[in-house]
Amino acid sequence: MSFESLGLSAPVLQAVAEKGYTTPTPIQEKAIPIVLMGRDVLGCAQTGTGKTAGFVLPMIDILSQGRAKARMPRSLILEPTRELAAQVAENFETYGKHNKLNMALLIGGVSFPDQERALERGVDVLIATPGRLLDHFERGGILLNDVKILVIDEADRMLDMGFIPDVERIVSTLPPLRQTLFFSATMPPEIKRLADRFLSNPKEVTVSPPASAGTNIVQGLAVVPEDDKRDALLALIKSQDVKNAIVFCNRKRDVATLHTTLKKHGLNAGALHGDMSQPARTETLEKFKAGDIQILVASDVAARGLDVQDMSHVFNYDVPFSPEDYVHRIGRTGRAGKTGHSFTLAAPFEGGLIEAIEKLIGTSIPRVEIPGLETATLEAGDGRRRGRGGRGGRPGGRSSGGAGDKPRGPRREPREQRGPRPEASVEPQAAAAAEAPRDVPREPRPERAPRERRPERVHAPRDHAPREQRAERRPERSQERRPEQRRDRDDGVAPKGLGDHVPAFLARPSR
Ligand code: AMP
Repeated sequence: MSFESLGLSAPVLQAVAEKGYTTPTPIQEKAIPIVLMGRDVLGCAQTGTGKTAGFVLPMIDILSQGRAKARMPRSLILEPTRELAAQVAENFETYGKHNKLNMALLIGGVSFPDQERALERGVDVLIATPGRLLDHFERGGILLNDVKILVIDEADRMLDMGFIPDVERIVSTLPPLRQTLFFSATMPPEIKRLADRFLSNPKEVTVSPPASAGTNIVQGLAVVPEDDKRDALLALIKSQDVKNAIVFCNRKRDVATLHTTLKKHGLNAGALHGDMSQPARTETLEKFKAGDIQILVASDVAARGLDVQDMSHVFNYDVPFSPEDYVHRIGRTGRAGKTGHSFTLAAPFEGGLIEAIEKLIGTSIPRVEIPGLETATLEAGDGRRRGRGGRGGRPGGRSSGGAGDKPRGPRREPREQRGPRPEASVEPQAAAAAEAPRDVPREPRPERAPRERRPERVHAPRDHAPREQRAERRPERSQERRPEQRRDRDDGVAPKGLGDHVPAFLARPSR
């Protein structure tokens, strides 16, 4: 099938041809004619499938008729993260270059006056993250009564990030007579319920089974003692032919620590997490996309949608708490038909998380060994650290005394007694294991231990891992109650005036 047969206009077809695309992807083939008909769409598709152009191309054609009034956008696209919003804006620029549509991007970390000026000019396409959009709405800077097309993108990610109340509020201010396009990588019951409320007689479009891992990604899992994770990562990076890679951590502060460690080891690394100022985030991403940064240490803010061509590797320094995030993380590589590699480092206590991932993806992740490092055994459990005096621990058990410190605890014998540092490459084992996953003997799973009793109090320890992750994902509840004091509720904004050097405790949402 060709783009010409989808019913798109000549200017849009020209822009597509100039971009070099000749054949629509399955989601484009299915969604574009339906959107052009004016129907609602319920799309189950992941990033990497070409879904953005699937809604951007027909929207350009629909919106090419008519004019926007000041502060009354004609269409609205909601995205969970600033990076995704910026990527959608790039798509409008690319495909809309032969049309005269006004676009505005409302994301956190960017000055309000510039955004207000853009709204004042009249906007055909408004791309926004929910928090910043509501901030403008509450200041009276925007009216949503003229929105004819609504796109809710990455709905399941919105759910994860706690944005659904904001999305519901936004949708309640829109005219009921509109076209709604609703996309989600997965369709858990909460998302389905939301879709039923927002959509009217939608056409369902599914292009890949939900939550499946890409088949052109060679996966590997190294189970190592927690204190060996840093050495394991360095050994993997050294032995692999890493063109460019993302290293995912579960916690923002671990991103910073690991970033420093990698730089100390002479690697060309950058960091990306939700506590960084928007200019710093944008600059880092651009450098990474341009190849000026080889290894990006990142939190899950980079897990979805980031479209970096030809990324060779993804490393999970921590096993993600949510199995869906594993699929999204490793999906940053192996894009557009290329082969990618992903390696996950799991400490024994992360066994429960690995179990959940393997259940979701329907296969076991091939085990790899790292020469010179002990291979540990996964334990059953909920993926939380134990036996660290309730502190929750630091990456690799390191103290807070400095980035990349060697472990201080006496848990393991010194390196000299453990034998020499690994010299040999891990590649043969990694490749062999990855290519013949079924032949790799798996360590037997221990009997599931009874769950630890939860403490009586509801408060988790300060640096408890899942709580940290929630802090990164959730908007501030207190801000919801006091809109006049609300600052940007998108995925973390640095306080103004401190540049990029914002202490983590200042950036952490208050409770
Ligand atoms: P998305 O799922 O929208 O994030 O798109 C993933 C990648 O596929 C992006 O780099 C797009 O530029 C690219 N892409 C979109 N449509 C096509 C197409 N028809 N042919 C080839 N690549 C495409």
